[in-house]
Amino acid sequence: YLRHSPEQILGGDRLLPAESGISFQDVASCQLLNASGPLPLPLWNKIWSQLFESPSFAAQELLNLAEEKAEKEDRPLQEKVRLMRQLWESQFAARQWLTHIRHLPQFHDWMFHGAGQTPWSEWCDGPAGSALAFISDASYTNNGASAKGYRVSFVPRPVIQAFLQRALDENRFFVPDYAVAGVTVGDVPLLLPVHGSWRPTDSPFVTAGSWGKGDDQRLHFTTEFYVFSREEMLAVEQRRTRLFSALIGAVVLVATAGLLAARRAFYQQQRLSEMKTNFVSSVSHELRAPIASMRLLSESLERGKISDAGKKQEYYRFLVQESRRLTSLIENVLDFSRIEQGRKEYQREPADLDAIVEDTIKLMLPCAAEKQVELARHPLIGPGPLVSCDGLALQQALINLIDNAIKHSPPGAKVEVGLEDGAPNGVRLWVEDQGPGIPPEEHEKIFERFYRRGSELRRETQGIGIGLTIVKHIVEAHGGRVLVRSAVGQGSRFTIQLPAASEQP
Ligand code: ADP
Repeated sequence: YLRHSPEQILGGDRLLPAESGISFQDVASCQLLNASGPLPLPLWNKIWSQLFESPSFAAQELLNLAEEKAEKEDRPLQEKVRLMRQLWESQFAARQWLTHIRHLPQFHDWMFHGAGQTPWSEWCDGPAGSALAFISDASYTNNGASAKGYRVSFVPRPVIQAFLQRALDENRFFVPDYAVAGVTVGDVPLLLPVHGSWRPTDSPFVTAGSWGKGDDQRLHFTTEFYVFSREEMLAVEQRRTRLFSALIGAVVLVATAGLLAARRAFYQQQRLSEMKTNFVSSVSHELRAPIASMRLLSESLERGKISDAGKKQEYYRFLVQESRRLTSLIENVLDFSRIEQGRKEYQREPADLDAIVEDTIKLMLPCAAEKQVELARHPLIGPGPLVSCDGLALQQALINLIDNAIKHSPPGAKVEVGLEDGAPNGVRLWVEDQGPGIPPEEHEKIFERFYRRGSELRRETQGIGIGLTIVKHIVEAHGGRVLVRSAVGQGSRFTIQLPAASEQP
């Protein structure tokens, strides 16, 4: 072989050992790597297979020579040499770990005392650090004959640590902010400490997923969680408690509010239905009285019993008056139903309010006379204001107010109607009486539909409880509002305030 060229020696497929412990192939590789000039690819491949298939203590030096040679060549070759060195170093580390494993007493037990079927694992140390070894049995073929052997896989500690770290990071929401997770594999703690200068001095507050070292001889694997900041844990718990308390408080508040609203709605509904019942009976009562007196008067006239011309005239006057009252009552009821159904419409046109007031007073004079009440007009200063409004509707509102004033006035009292052009603040139309007055707490209620003051049984005045509701609706539809100034025993003044012509909707 000493006469063979290095190419010939590497070309053979038999290992050619020498007494020195270095094979002929190693020497041939060394010669090729030392020679100048580029080396063809097949020869590089021969050197690599020699290096890995029959490793010797010359391997490190061969790798150094390869590196030097590759320096003068292209990049892919340099990259390949770097990879080969990495591969060599990992195999070297694996061999060191394997040596460690083979010296363990449990390896001997497992190999030679019958336990050989069960796979097992153990930490092992070497110059490259520690690694976890997984040992199981394996069969392989050697020169065509099958033989029993074993297989050992090593996972370096940093690789295990990186995988565990990633698994924990991806499931971070399982670990609260004040805690840290630690994993122990076969009494070797991994991932601890994690948070800066923190050291797990306390025992873990929870141990999760602990298994192993049972029948299958695998290492004990434990995940533990440590509290690294008791203050933060307390703060988190306090925050959670506060949040829950606030939530419970809010729920109770909403429930109470709902209950109160339901209770109020129920009572309101009950009151409304009571008032509706009273309304029906009031309407029937209000209709019956004038119809009865009209029937009586007209029957007397029909029978010719009344011969005195003056008396006859008085009967006719009564009949006209009663029928007017009936018309006004029915008008109010019909208007109210139109308002309730949203069908009420107003025809606006420029109207002379002064003339409307004059006409209405004239219309109401007989009614006042009947009750012995003086109905007077407060003198108007300046020209009568012109507003765009539904004259008939406004007259109806005024009739309702005057009718109320007369109804509630004692005989001999005075009811005054006034009109003021308070430009630019609008127009005021008011009706004042010297009646019993209304207590302030009822100033709003009297405008509610069907609302009538006093008890149903003790009510002295006629009425059905919709007059003021209609007044309010008419005035508000004109963009105005109704004001009440009244106190018990001091009479009342109802004021219709309409916006100035320029501001009307
Ligand atoms: P009605 O007069 O048909 O009962 P209203 O809606 O016109 O209905 O009035 C509601 C209530 O307001 C009346 O029942 C009455 O008690 C009170 N009220 C209205 N006008 C006067 C007034 N000028 N003086 C005293 N009370 C009044």
